[in-house]
Amino acid sequence: MPRRSEAHPQPAAIRQPLSAARRTPGVVTIAAWQRFPWLLAGFSTRQGGRSTAYASDGPPELNLGFTPDDDPATVAENRRRFLAAVTKSKPRTAPDLITIRQCHTGILQRVDSAALPLATPDGKALLRGDALYTRDPNLLLGILTADCVPILLADTRTHAVAAFHAGWRGTLARIVERGIGTLRRDFGSHPKDLIASIGPSIGPCCFAVGEEVLHEFDSQFAYAPELFSEVFDSDPVREKYPMLFLTARAPGHSNLGPQIHLDLWEANRRQLLAAGLKASSINLVGECTACTRLPDGRRKYFSHRAEHGFTGRMLSVIGATAH
Ligand SMILES: [Zn+2]
Repeated sequence: MPRRSEAHPQPAAIRQPLSAARRTPGVVTIAAWQRFPWLLAGFSTRQGGRSTAYASDGPPELNLGFTPDDDPATVAENRRRFLAAVTKSKPRTAPDLITIRQCHTGILQRVDSAALPLATPDGKALLRGDALYTRDPNLLLGILTADCVPILLADTRTHAVAAFHAGWRGTLARIVERGIGTLRRDFGSHPKDLIASIGPSIGPCCFAVGEEVLHEFDSQFAYAPELFSEVFDSDPVREKYPMLFLTARAPGHSNLGPQIHLDLWEANRRQLLAAGLKASSINLVGECTACTRLPDGRRKYFSHRAEHGFTGRMLSVIGATAH
């Protein structure tokens, strides 16, 4: 089969066999963590996989959530491929994946393989909460997102690991700060030994929120003003012909007033620092799920906000191997 040259991509409308590279599950890894051979971790992208539910006319995608629009068998196969890519193992020998029924709370769940089953036979989560933690080397902890912030945490001394789902409600509930307190209590973790990565999620560029969110954060965090910014929508027509709009509305009554944007990356980084992590131990992927595009123009990530709820899910996983 002739290989497609990357330099001359085919138009999307022409159906071609997919190259091996395009079938490979997209994994975002953390370069600074490569020096910990016992640590398995990765964030998924949209690329690779077999799902066509959200692909429109593009190649099949890596939906890793059991969403109503996708075939569960396809999602299960996508998960096997992604886990094999993260663990560099054969799909059948990858550790067990544990997920939870996420519900935008500050609830943490400790899991270990002795307490199985944690999932139904077809892989659906049984526990409810928004963070998982373990010191069991036989488990991979997984968080599903499509804009919310996935945060992976590891203790380089005890090899305990944790995974968090931090949307604005979980962030407001200080789920990450609470999680680190829980690791200290349960496993004797010291914050100086902890490393964290804040994964792909909606960035301060795109996360417009209502004023009530600002008030909620303001009542909880002394540094809240540093997490919000005013963003003025640009309108090329207005910028080019400002006189046309000068008398249309009284000042202060424009439809294009400032929006309030929340920086969930910084909010969670501040919680990690407050819990005692060194700044140099915190990794930020820094890619926005709503606006990051690949060179070919396709979306790199699923985005609940940008796709009005009709989209797949990324999976973020972390685990420790026994050796
Ligand atoms: Zn963005």
